[in-house]
Amino acid sequence: MSHQPSALALPSWLTWWQRPFPDANTLLLPGQRPALVDTGFVGHADETAAWARAHAGTVDLVVNTHWHSDHVGGNALLQARGAAVAAGTPEAEAITRRDPGCCAAEYLDQPVAPYTVDVPLDDGQVLRLGDADWEVVRAPGHTPGHLALWQPEERLLVVGDALSDYDVGWVNLALDGPDGATTALASLKRMADLDPRLILPSHGPIPADPAAAFAAALRRAQRLVDDPAGAVWYGARRIFAFALMIRDGIPAEEVDPYLHARAWLTDAARLLNVTPEVLAAELVTTMLGSGAIVMRDGRLHAAADHTPVARAALRVPYPRAWPAAEPR
Ligand SMILES: [Zn+2]
Repeated sequence: MSHQPSALALPSWLTWWQRPFPDANTLLLPGQRPALVDTGFVGHADETAAWARAHAGTVDLVVNTHWHSDHVGGNALLQARGAAVAAGTPEAEAITRRDPGCCAAEYLDQPVAPYTVDVPLDDGQVLRLGDADWEVVRAPGHTPGHLALWQPEERLLVVGDALSDYDVGWVNLALDGPDGATTALASLKRMADLDPRLILPSHGPIPADPAAAFAAALRRAQRLVDDPAGAVWYGARRIFAFALMIRDGIPAEEVDPYLHARAWLTDAARLLNVTPEVLAAELVTTMLGSGAIVMRDGRLHAAADHTPVARAALRVPYPRAWPAAEPR
């Protein structure tokens, strides 16, 4: 019989939902001030809200580790039902002013329903979530506004996409600059120094050994610093796999036109000093070769376990067309 020791050590006052892509894992903190950390993908917003209500009643506060589509997709629905949304700077300000780059939604071609940020978060801020106090730890790298959440009494650390049990978050060197990997590495060191008893990552299982997970993530992040081309490739693979998951695959004949029209691919090609056409072809070949993507019934699919998304759910406007954020 096998079990996961760390899962047994989860305090009874928090509820953890490990979810396959395209949803980030979701943490619920029931209590006086029910709070939800990350809200999954827009196509599953109804299930996210129903799950939170079933376990905690009405959610008072949503906290986002960062603004990627798999973390903020339920924000709009929960906000319509009365929750306030808290997010790290500088992403909070960008959401408020409706910056077209919000959530990298258009850049990555990942839909996000319009939401506003009520509570901008900065380093060291203390938040009451459920019945416990958590500290905001700025952890930029994977995105500029990425944050971790630290519960000092229980020594729990919510790490978002900064690391998982098997990997480290991809970095966007085109969008966030050449120092993106160095920034991510510094954030990982700072989080590791907290010496958490338990880390809660946004993807995959809770690591059985937090110190070992950090050691692996630090080695992997150092490699991204040392090999910028490798970092660009890593990002491209993650972005493309996600695109295939939320679309239930892409018809074979549409794959090249789809890729050639993507800003992230054009930028990656520029950084790698190849044409977008060459990069698109290499990306598909490499990922087919590694088994990360598969051709099935004339469509290219992501191989990793993922939950289907209803096509209609993808039809939300890009942030440049979001209605203005009204003060609440
Ligand atoms: Zn992310």
